[in-house]
Amino acid sequence: MELKLNNSKRLYKIAERLMPGGVNSPVRSFKAVDGTPVFISSAKGPWIYDEDGNKYIDYIASWGPLILGHTHNDVVRAVKKAAENGTSYGAPCVDEINLASLIVKSFPSIDMLRMTSSGTEATMSAVRLSRAYTKRDFIIKFEGCYHGHADYLLVKAGSGATTFGTPSSPGVPKGFTNNTLLARYNDIRSVERLFSKYENQIACVLIEPVAANMGVVPPKNGFLEGLRKLAQDSGTLLIFDEVITGFRLGLGGAQKTYNIKPDLTCLGKIIGGGFPVGAYGGRKEIMSMIAPIGPVYHAGTLSGNPVAMAAGVATINKLREKGTYKRLNELTQSLIEGLHKILKKLGIKAQINSVGSMFTIFFTDREVFDYESALTSDTKMYSRFFKNLLSAGIMFPPSQFEAVFVSLAHTEREIDITLRAVYKALKETASRG
Ligand SMILES: *Cc1c(COP(=O)(O)O)cnc(C)c1O
Repeated sequence: MELKLNNSKRLYKIAERLMPGGVNSPVRSFKAVDGTPVFISSAKGPWIYDEDGNKYIDYIASWGPLILGHTHNDVVRAVKKAAENGTSYGAPCVDEINLASLIVKSFPSIDMLRMTSSGTEATMSAVRLSRAYTKRDFIIKFEGCYHGHADYLLVKAGSGATTFGTPSSPGVPKGFTNNTLLARYNDIRSVERLFSKYENQIACVLIEPVAANMGVVPPKNGFLEGLRKLAQDSGTLLIFDEVITGFRLGLGGAQKTYNIKPDLTCLGKIIGGGFPVGAYGGRKEIMSMIAPIGPVYHAGTLSGNPVAMAAGVATINKLREKGTYKRLNELTQSLIEGLHKILKKLGIKAQINSVGSMFTIFFTDREVFDYESALTSDTKMYSRFFKNLLSAGIMFPPSQFEAVFVSLAHTEREIDITLRAVYKALKETASRG
């Protein structure tokens, strides 16, 4: 079955002339699955509609933020009201306090926080702060973890032998990544080796406590505990990048789920309720180093924007209602169980990694526990699966290495429709393999 995408194709041609790849963020281009992106005209609840009148059940959720689904009444109402009162003041407003209090209440490790306009700024600023606080330069990040597009964090898995990071984008001078050390996710020995080689020189260990940017990869038992201890013993700050997991896994994020207290936490995505927001926070003693009460500079023209704050407050207040996460997780579990049954019936080898309401189907017969094992996935097979599924009206992420997100707007009905579509899509995918 071919989708009718005439309008999307026409719009994409125009967009390509105006913007690199026709998009403002690369993953949207469908390049990884060798397809044409669909142009969205509107969305409601779990559904998203394109410019050709096709509709899809959405599992991208704007790459994580829309945990309530699209255009949730509470959020839309709050946003309208805020916009009517002024879209930006360049001066403090009450919803900054409201959102900050909700975050502090949910995350015991956060006494104080600072809002930003994106997750990228949150991680960048948290790393700067960790360097200022420890008076050290080196940082540890993990292969396959994404922390936004700051120069020195754009270091992926290069040659495993090298410990100095190699920039994975041109335009990043080698000197900018010399202080970025790479370790392997779920491999505490790789972190121990760096700590002994760079004794008393490491400012922070920055990690997605549940990796979700190489597909979903949960931490193994003891891994986060091991990091906590290594950091503690060396005067190094542990930074949890919870831009995806914050308010996704529960009100207290991954740190609550796994019961580990980081020194600093980065947030984004859900806390903006679909608007551009990030935040970083931690103990008062560390956060007090930020300007204007401390020497570490950080600023933002639109940081703490009143409309974005209102969307975040409305979103978190909804999430705080009783039973939300239980419902989200049960719904996701029923989808995953259905997927397992289908994979078994069709004899397709795949791994499903999941935590809470996010998961990834990796087309590989290996257990996926780090970047290297994630890369054993058959990305061509994923592309075929993605396209077949899109034609059947289901929007999964257009890349093997992304998370599928279930929202509170999905119901048993959408899960049923999805499973029927997945069965057909996988059958086609396998038969043309
Ligand atoms: C999305 C993401 C970021 C970057 O956030 P932006 O708002 O896109 O700048 C950082 N860290 C993680 C874990 C993310 O998933």
